[in-house]
This record gives sequence, structure tokens and C-alpha cells, in this order.
Amino acid sequence: MWKSITSLNSYSSVLNLVFPSDCPVCNKPSDLYKTSPVCLSCWQKIQIHDGKGCRICAAVTDYKSTGVCQECRFIKPVFERILSYGVYEGVLKEVIHLVKFRRIRRLARVLGTELLHLDTPDADLVVPVPLSVHGLRKREFNQSAVMASVIAVRRGIRLDITSLVKVKDTCPQSTLSRIERRENVRGAFRVSENLKGKHVILVDDVVTTGATANECARVLKKAGAVSVVVICAARAKNI
Ligand SMILES: [Zn+2]
Ligand SMILES: [Zn+2]
Repeated sequence: MWKSITSLNSYSSVLNLVFPSDCPVCNKPSDLYKTSPVCLSCWQKIQIHDGKGCRICAAVTDYKSTGVCQECRFIKPVFERILSYGVYEGVLKEVIHLVKFRRIRRLARVLGTELLHLDTPDADLVVPVPLSVHGLRKREFNQSAVMASVIAVRRGIRLDITSLVKVKDTCPQSTLSRIERRENVRGAFRVSENLKGKHVILVDDVVTTGATANECARVLKKAGAVSVVVICAARAKNI
């Protein structure tokens, strides 16, 4: 059973009396310091990924399949599998937008904490999907790196934010079709270290088609990684 971090406690309430803020989702006063500025009621509306759907790419399907989706049957992904905290819609989508576009960094840490509940295998390295230099300058921090650092510290696995780099600015994946997404990220990442024999946990905020995760896994394995398990905050429904 999923253990929520959202148990309200008096400490949180007191802190929120000291630092009051309104929930940007429902505009009511935020009542939980841990997830603030998002309130408890909104946070609890996040649709958790139930682990069903495709057992390789975690594609969320309307029917409750426990097998492999059509896409993965057609072209087997390079990564071993994707594990996701939630489904990219509703409150979780808003939370991710708050992190990315309103730069509320602390919510990336909260999402990182939620990722700790996933059944992630042991690994040698935790590697975030990187932003390009230009992207990092624009956003000021890499939300995937913030989540990755929480996992690395809490799981006692080495955080590696330097080996995998993004060397090419890409168009926002959200504007592209499935095939265009694959082309868009081709050659966008490079690995600078020898990762021979390493088991890698790759952390991303949102997985839509899996094109970015797959391209990262491809270069990580080319550098010697033996396995790449992707963990993400949100898995989009298939486009
Ligand atoms: Zn709210
Ligand atoms: Zn699949």
C-alpha cells in the first residue's frame, strides 16, 4: 500500500500559521507545510500510478492491461523499465508546472521524497536527465536533479550529475508527435565517463512517450552501463 507523506501534523500546522500561503491549485489557505504551497486536500487528489499498464514503459492505458504495450512490442526500449509515482494529469500536472515554470524548487524535493516509495532496484549511480546549458540558465535549477539528489542521499547511492550531459537544445517535446520526439532527442545527450558495469537509476520529471528516457539509456549503455531503470514523477497517458 502506498504510504503517503501527507499525514497532517501539528508541527506543519504551526509552521503554516507562521508562514501562511495560499494553495496555487485551489486558492484556499495552504494547510500542510510539507507540500506547501499545495494544500493537503489538493495533494491527496494526485492520481498515483497503480503499477498496472505496460510493465516496461509504464504506459497508462484505459484498459487495465498487465502486459506489454504495442509500442514496446514494436520497438523494445533500451531502458529496462519505467517506474512512475503518478499519472501526468490533474493536480500532479499542476505541481510539475509549478516546479518548472514558477520555479518552486521545494516541490521538486517533495516529489523526490514520493519517489522513494517506488520499488526501485539497487543501483550504483543515480543520474538525472540533464538540461542543456541554455535550459539550465533559463530554469535556474534542474528539477530532475533535485529529485535525484533526494533519492541518492536517502538510498545511499552515488549521485552523478556530470556524466550525462545534454549537448543540444531540443524543441519542447510536448509540441511534437511520437516520431518527431524520437528524432528531436537523437544525439542530444552525451556521456563523458566510462560507466562499465554500472547499474543506473535515471530520474526524470515527466515521461510522455519515453523518447528522452530511451535516448539517455542508449548513450548510458554505450558508455558501458549494464542496466538503466527510469523513475519519474509522472507518466503521461499515451499520445
Ligand atoms: Zn489546494
Ligand atoms: Zn510499453
